Amino acid sequence: MNNVDLIVEAAWVATVDAGDTLLTDHAVVVNDTRIVDILPRDAANAGYRANLRYQLPTHLLIPGLVNAHTHAAMTLLRGFADDIPLMAWLQEHVWPTESRWVDKDFVRDGTQLAIAEMLRSGTTCFSDMYYHPDIAATVAQASGIRAIIGMIVLDFPTLWAADPDEYFHKGLTLHDQLRDDPLVGTALAPHAPYTVSDGPLARVRMYTDELDIPVHMHVHETRHEVQQAIDETGSSPLRRLQRLGMLNPHLIAVHMTQLQDDDIELAARSGINVVHCPESNLKLASGFCRVNDLLNAGVNVALGTDGAASNNDLDMLGELRCAALLAKGIADDASALEVTQALRMATINGARALGIADQTGSLEVGKSADMVALDLHALNTQPVYNAISQLVFAASREQICHVWVAGECLVEDAKLTRINEAELLHKIAAWGQRMQAGA
Ligand SMILES: [Zn+2]
Repeated sequence: MNNVDLIVEAAWVATVDAGDTLLTDHAVVVNDTRIVDILPRDAANAGYRANLRYQLPTHLLIPGLVNAHTHAAMTLLRGFADDIPLMAWLQEHVWPTESRWVDKDFVRDGTQLAIAEMLRSGTTCFSDMYYHPDIAATVAQASGIRAIIGMIVLDFPTLWAADPDEYFHKGLTLHDQLRDDPLVGTALAPHAPYTVSDGPLARVRMYTDELDIPVHMHVHETRHEVQQAIDETGSSPLRRLQRLGMLNPHLIAVHMTQLQDDDIELAARSGINVVHCPESNLKLASGFCRVNDLLNAGVNVALGTDGAASNNDLDMLGELRCAALLAKGIADDASALEVTQALRMATINGARALGIADQTGSLEVGKSADMVALDLHALNTQPVYNAISQLVFAASREQICHVWVAGECLVEDAKLTRINEAELLHKIAAWGQRMQAGA
């Protein structure tokens, strides 16, 4: 009899391993933050004595969801400016509002709201891009969630830095501070091709190689962005990034709408990662990402919510369903993006894009115990012919009851264990009143 920290027994375990194995009546055994065994429930009972044991007889256990693109603190701008196209939305609403309101307190409280919502929705890892990334990192550390914090880079001055030199200096300082953190890491985050010029991008390329970390960037978000670049320079943003040597497996290209066939071949050949944000793309009418063609070409496609100002929630289950449905419509093929592929996009593909697939993204021995349990014993998910189909096409985030990160239970019986939800809601309501009064 081996002593271990934790055993979670579930009716179904979707491992998202290389064979997309779906186990029934199995147990995941965890010791010292990691999965040490996955075996039939009876064998687990016979072989292990656990300090904590969860018996989940009507539940599906999945790997923690990976939100590969968000701007966490923008939860405070949820519903602030809707129904406006991207450039007008950014230039006339988001950027002026941010320059007036965003400070350390805004980022601290907005990021905490985002993390609380994400944990309750089964997200165990998020990739962020925003101002005051040092504050976002501190809030993430306090919450117990896994995160990759973007070190934002722009050409122009913002509340975070005056020029590219300062963006790099502050970002690299944060990178050094987080060097030994097991859960919170960094990525370089040049905002977009139209806001970062060649000089700073060359430095991004240099630091990526040196530090071996991802580059998190909006690329080909809208038709307007692509057309403007072609009109002004003769080449698309993607081709410019190719010229700058940035198309390599470090790159996480977010959105990637308006792709031609040769762009998809280039993406596959160069090994870049794509993050699909279907709800944000739909809400801002940005265009469509050819997810099915990218996946068929061998490109790693992950999933993200984008910020709550353009979504307007951080619900990865909702995003997963939207992606699964939209891919079929765009491909004009009902067999496109089957449910196991959709689940991979929301889990292991995100982990791979962030360079942490050895840690998270699937339930396998040796990986961190980042896990989510949903109760399928609900009117909208019965009967269960295929648990993954129920997850993708029918389940809602309200069915998520338990969430673990590195073996720690951060959501227990649908309640946050580290974050005081009542206090948080009080704080956020006060922000809403203050900003509405000052608008
Ligand atoms: Zn974004």
